[in-house]
Amino acid sequence: MHRLYQTGRKSGLVATSVWTNAIHPDDRERAEREFDDAVASRGQYNSEFRIVWPDGDVRYIRSRAHFYVSEEGAPSFIGAEWDVTADVRLNAEAARQRAVAEARALALEQSAARIEYAAEHDYLTGLPNRRLFDKRLAQLAEDPTVSTLAVLHLDLDEFKQINDGYGHSAGDAVLRAAALRIEAGLPKGSIAARIGGDEFVIILVNFTGVDVLQQIARDVQRRLRKKIRFGADLLQSGASIGISWSADRSDANLLAESDIALYHAKAAGRDRIQFFTQQLKDELMAKRQIGEELKLALEGGEFVPFYQVQLDARTRAIVGLEALVRWQHAERGLLVPGDFLKVADEYGLSADIDAAILRRVLKDRRDWEGRGVPVPRIAVNISGQRLYDPHLMEDLLSLDIPQSAIVFELIETIFLDDCDDEMLQSVEQIKQMGIEIEIDDFGSGHASLIGLVRLRPTRLKIDRQLVDEIDTSDEQRRVVKSIIEIAKALGVSVIAEGVETEGHATTLAKLGCETLQGFALGRPVPASEIDGIFVSPVAG
Ligand code: C2E
Ligand code: MG
Ligand code: MG
Repeated sequence: MHRLYQTGRKSGLVATSVWTNAIHPDDRERAEREFDDAVASRGQYNSEFRIVWPDGDVRYIRSRAHFYVSEEGAPSFIGAEWDVTADVRLNAEAARQRAVAEARALALEQSAARIEYAAEHDYLTGLPNRRLFDKRLAQLAEDPTVSTLAVLHLDLDEFKQINDGYGHSAGDAVLRAAALRIEAGLPKGSIAARIGGDEFVIILVNFTGVDVLQQIARDVQRRLRKKIRFGADLLQSGASIGISWSADRSDANLLAESDIALYHAKAAGRDRIQFFTQQLKDELMAKRQIGEELKLALEGGEFVPFYQVQLDARTRAIVGLEALVRWQHAERGLLVPGDFLKVADEYGLSADIDAAILRRVLKDRRDWEGRGVPVPRIAVNISGQRLYDPHLMEDLLSLDIPQSAIVFELIETIFLDDCDDEMLQSVEQIKQMGIEIEIDDFGSGHASLIGLVRLRPTRLKIDRQLVDEIDTSDEQRRVVKSIIEIAKALGVSVIAEGVETEGHATTLAKLGCETLQGFALGRPVPASEIDGIFVSPVAG
């Protein structure tokens, strides 16, 4: 069989070998087979192959022909072959671009998935984070196959000690182990999440009753109690658990309620389980109400200072006043700090209350001075929130406080917890504004000698618990004596609070305490009663 070629290069009959040799070696066998098949079947011939020109140029050829028998009776194929190189190359390029685009889309999709995963999971334990927890809880609350719904709020008991004592990698190891153990102890369909440092939450669904919840919580506690090997050390951390549940899959307050239950569990000791109860609910409502009322009271100027005198231990002359906040509540009457300061702290309102009291104190002071009353220094109490208030300095500067007119009483625990550079710096700035610094309740909890040395306050105030037994306990008296000696050695003055008897007053004076404050010398009174105190000499 011969082929008739009409190409740009030559025309005429060519031998089959010319055709065969021109075909690209990789396509040759297939092309020949397809031609032979067409001959054998006397049918259609359809092929595509590459040919190589003598100069090495590779072209793509498409060949179409069909069988026929010529007039002379010779079996032949008639058809055409044409150069489709441009087409093929274009298609190949399009396919390549499509592949690149697909790969890019896939990569994008994967990285989007990765980002989404990271946004919803805790990197350390791989558990869902708070965000995913919220989402899942909301989904379950809408899920018609869910009947009962519970949130268990869990906090590792000794985590802080482990972190501080063995380092952060030990802490991380404990958290990872805890995550695995919590998950291992849960029935199918539960969700565990890590929502804070050592805080985990668990969602349980379709449990049959409270006893089942109790059982699961106990089981989780038991698993968590097991020791964890960390290098050469064995670490152990128990867990406290607060539980809130609903029988109609309403999730409205489950997390907040389980948190409150957890708070009570921890307050009762370690390794406890506490359900959210009606009583806790009432407490929560009361707290919320106080929180709301506090905000209104701040706006309405219902916080006023009462003043308690501070006397020179030897002469009994008035050398100072302490301003103590009182809340003039429209319905409940006069409230003392014990009734509202803790809630104010929780609602972040302490700094505002302190600021309001300072403004009132400065106003009272101006009033007294205007009437010719000799005003001694006035001490105000400063909460930790106020001390860390970023607007504190600005606020103080705007108040134009006279030199040595005001004392800031900071409670001892503020320093011990956070005696950091930032705080030392703000204390230094306060001192430079002519405001004295006093450490309140000294000796009430922690040995705060370090705070004393670093802070260099003008004065420290001996806590009333120490004063209370000064006449009945030799040991207590010795403690007070040492405090006074140390203070003197550091150039710090000493005041005592809670002076309830004349005995307290004389003993303290003998021990070298310079200033006294207490019910025996004067109770806190409203500003309107201060004039009278100044006029009449104090008995003693
Ligand atoms: P504190 O600063 O140690 O104030 C002394 C507390 O002891 C006052 O209670 C005072 O009324 C009471 N007290 C005075 N003399 C005696 C006494 O002889 N015996 C006994 N048993 N108690 C005495 P108060 O006014 O209820 O204040 C309690 C605490 O509330 C204060 O303790 C202080 O830490 C805080 N506080 C008071 N006012 C403010 C304020 O404006 N801001 C802030 N942040 N805290 C304040
Ligand atoms: Mg005080
Ligand atoms: Mg005190």
